[in-house]
Amino acid sequence: MKSKRAVIVQCRLSSSRLPGKALLELGSKPVLSWVLKAMKKVSAEYYYVATDHDSLPLLEPVCKENGFKCFAGDLNDVLKRFCDLIKTIKADIIIRATADNPFLFYEAAQASLDEFEEKLKSRHPCDYLTYTGLPHGSGVEIISAPALLKAADMTDNPYDHEHVGPALYNHKENFNCEFIQAPARFYNPKLRTTIDTFSDYLRAQTIVNYLDSKTPYSTEQILAACNSDYVNNPIILVPSVTKGQGTGHLHRCLSAAVQSQAFVYIPSDSTLSGIDTIIDEYRQKGLLPYQIINELPDSTYPAVIVTDCFCMSEQEAQRFYSCKKLICLDEGSDFCDYADYLLDIIPSYDCRHQPNKFDTSYITKPNNVRKERTLDIENILVCIGGEDPAGLTLPAAQSLLKVLPGAHITAVVNDPLKYKDILNINFTGPIENLREKIYEYDLVVSHYGLTSFEALFAGCAVIMLATTKLHEKLAQKYDFAYIPQGKIDAARMQQALESEKLHPKAEQINQMQMSLAQKSLGGCLKNLSFGQRLPCPVCRTLPSKPDAVIARNETRTYRRCQSCGMVYMSFTIENDMEYKKAYFFEDYKKQYGKTYQEDFESIKKQCLRRMEIIKSYEQSGGNHNYLDIGCAYGPSLSAAGELGFSPFGTDISEDAVHYVKSKLHFPSSCSAFPDMDPEKEFGITQFDSISMWYVIEHFKNLDSVLSKVSEILKDGGIFAFSTPSGEGISAKSDPDHFYTISPQDHYSIWEPSRAQKILKKYGFEIIKIVSTGHHPERFPAAKKGNIAPGSIKWKMLDRYSRLMELGDTVEIYCRKKS
Ligand SMILES: [Zn+2]
Repeated sequence: MKSKRAVIVQCRLSSSRLPGKALLELGSKPVLSWVLKAMKKVSAEYYYVATDHDSLPLLEPVCKENGFKCFAGDLNDVLKRFCDLIKTIKADIIIRATADNPFLFYEAAQASLDEFEEKLKSRHPCDYLTYTGLPHGSGVEIISAPALLKAADMTDNPYDHEHVGPALYNHKENFNCEFIQAPARFYNPKLRTTIDTFSDYLRAQTIVNYLDSKTPYSTEQILAACNSDYVNNPIILVPSVTKGQGTGHLHRCLSAAVQSQAFVYIPSDSTLSGIDTIIDEYRQKGLLPYQIINELPDSTYPAVIVTDCFCMSEQEAQRFYSCKKLICLDEGSDFCDYADYLLDIIPSYDCRHQPNKFDTSYITKPNNVRKERTLDIENILVCIGGEDPAGLTLPAAQSLLKVLPGAHITAVVNDPLKYKDILNINFTGPIENLREKIYEYDLVVSHYGLTSFEALFAGCAVIMLATTKLHEKLAQKYDFAYIPQGKIDAARMQQALESEKLHPKAEQINQMQMSLAQKSLGGCLKNLSFGQRLPCPVCRTLPSKPDAVIARNETRTYRRCQSCGMVYMSFTIENDMEYKKAYFFEDYKKQYGKTYQEDFESIKKQCLRRMEIIKSYEQSGGNHNYLDIGCAYGPSLSAAGELGFSPFGTDISEDAVHYVKSKLHFPSSCSAFPDMDPEKEFGITQFDSISMWYVIEHFKNLDSVLSKVSEILKDGGIFAFSTPSGEGISAKSDPDHFYTISPQDHYSIWEPSRAQKILKKYGFEIIKIVSTGHHPERFPAAKKGNIAPGSIKWKMLDRYSRLMELGDTVEIYCRKKS
C-alpha cells in the first residue's frame, strides 16, 4: 500500500521578536501564503497548517485560499500538536516546514522526500532525513510518522516537546536520523532567507522586489536574488522630518523611493505636520506601504543609508556611518567626513565641503508652468530661501520698486510684521508649496538655490543675487541674469533687468529638462548604493571615527588613515578591473600611446637601472634569486637576467605568464599574489630580492601582500617597489585633479615621507628613495604657458623637481631587517 504523505506547516502568531509575522504583508500577500504556495509544489496526499487555537481563525482564510487545511492543537507542546494531527489523518510520512520561511526550496524538499521514500523501500530505511547546507530558512524535514509517535511517548524532555525533530535526532540511539549534505544546486549554507527579525523582514521585501514575478520561486531565482547587488545593498532614505525645515526633504525622498523601491525612515515621533497627506500623495504614484519604516533595522542588516536631513548631528552621523554605507544629499553639517559619498544638488551656501558630485539636474521640476511667454513684468516675487543672513530681500525689493514703480512686488520674509511701515511692497511669510505657485510670477528674484531653478523651469524671468564669487560663477554657468556680489541698488537692478539672460531661453530650459528627464535621483542612488566602501588597505579595520577625507570626485572618495597615515581609496562606484590581455594592450595604449610590448625596451632600460640599485645593496653573493611580482611580459626579469640574477616571475595575466615562460624562458607562475606558494611553484621558500614595479597600488589588501613579501624574503634581502607619488608636483599643486585622474584600480597612494612607518610594521627599513617621473610642464608656473620645453626656465624647473624630489612617481628600496 502506498504511504500517505502529509505536508505540515507549523505556524503560530505569538512570536516575541516579530509578532504576527506569518500574516505580515510581503509583496501583495501574507508571508504564510508564500510558504504554502511553495509547499503545495511538493507531492503529498495531505496539506495542513498546524497551529494553536487562538491563531486558527486568523490563519484559516489564508490556508483555504492556498488549498491547505488548518489544524489547531497544543500551543506550547508542538510535538503533541503534530502527533495529534498524525493520528487524526493517519499519515505515514511528514514533510515539515515552518511558516516563517517564505523562500523554501520546494525542489530540495521534493528531492529529500524522494530520497526518504527510496530509503524506505531499501534495507536501510530512516526515521528522519534532512538536507544540510541549505540557506537558513529554505529547508524542510522529512519524518516518519510512526517513529515520531513512538518518540513522543519515549521523551518527557520539555525541549523535545517544544520542537519536533529533536525528539528523534537527539535520541539517535533509538532512531535512524540522516543529515545529508544538500546537492550542489541547493548548497548555500551562508545565506539566510528566514524571517525571524525586523531586519529579516526588510530583506525578504527586497528579495520579493528583485524577483518581481509570480510565486513560488525556483531555487535559482531565490539564489540570484540573495546574491544580487540590490538585495545586498538596500537603501534606507532618511529625510529631515523636523518642524521648521520644510517638507522639501520628505518630498524628495519619497519621490526617490518611488523610483528606487527604497525604504524611507520616518520615526513615529516626527514633529513635521501633514506627513500622512504627503505620503498619500506618493502612494498614488506607486509608493508601497512597506516602504515606510518607523524603526531602523539592527546592525545585521546591510543598509545603505541616504540622508537628506539638512544637517546631521554627530550622533546621527555616527549611527549611520556604522551601517554598510552612508550617502548624504546636500549635507550641511560639520560631519561630512562620515559620509562615503556626498551628492550636492543645491550647493551649500558657504561651500564648506567638497562634494563627490554636484548636479542640479536632480531638482524636481514644477508641474505648473507659464503657458505664454510675456516680456512685461508686472508681478514680482523676491524670495531668498532660509534665513537670508546677508539681508538681501529688502534692498532687492526696494531697488525693484525704484526701477519698476508700477509692478506688484511680493517679498518673502520670516517676519512680515517687521516691515509693515514700508509701503508698496507686499511682505509675506513663507509660501506653502511655492514650487507649484511660482509660475504666477513674471519675475523671480532669488539667490542661487532651488527657487531660482524652479522659477526657470516654470518659465519665469529670473534674477539671481550672488553672495560669493562662487555663486557668480554658478549663475554664469547656468546662464542666469544676476547681480554680482556687493551692493544691491537700482542701477545694478536695472542692468540685470536689461540682461538678455533675464528671460529663460528655450535652449536653456530644453537642455535642463532633457537632463532632468534622464536623471532620476532614485536611479542615481541605486547606482551609488552598489559602490564599495573600502577600509585602509594596511590596517583593514573601520575606525570608530572616520578617517579624514583627502579628496572626493564623482566616482571615488580618498582618505588618510588615522592610524598608519596611508592615503587610500575609501569608496568607489567603479567595478573591479580584470587584468586580461586588453589591460596590457588596448588600455595601456590608451594611457601611454603605445602598447606595453612596443614600450618593452624603454621599460627594460628603466628596469636595468633599478636592478643595478638592488644589486648594489644585495648582501647574498652567489645566486641572486629574484622574484618580480606582477612581472607582466617580463622586462624586469629580462633586465635581471642580464645582470646575473636568477629571475622568477608571477602575474595574474595568463597571457603574460605564457609569454615569459615561452619567449623569455624564465620560470613564472600565474597567480593572484599573495595567493601563491613559491616552494610549490619554484622550489624556493625565500628570495634574495623581490620587486613590484607599479603593482603595489593595485592591492585592496596590502596587509596580506606585505606580510607575504616579508615572509618569502630572506633576512637582509631587498624589497623594492615603484608607484605614483602622493607628494609629487601633480599631487601637491592640484590634489583634486590628481585624485580625479588617478586610475580606478589604484587603491593606495604612497607618500615617500610616510612610507617608513608603514613598511616598518612588516620588518622593512627604507634604504633608498628615488624620485622619478619629473615633469616640468606640470608645474603651475609652466602650465601658465610661457615656459617652452627645453628653455632655461624649463631646465631650471626640471632641476628643481629633482632637487626637491617632486617627481610624480617614486621608487622605494628597503631591506628586511634581520
Ligand atoms: Zn592604516
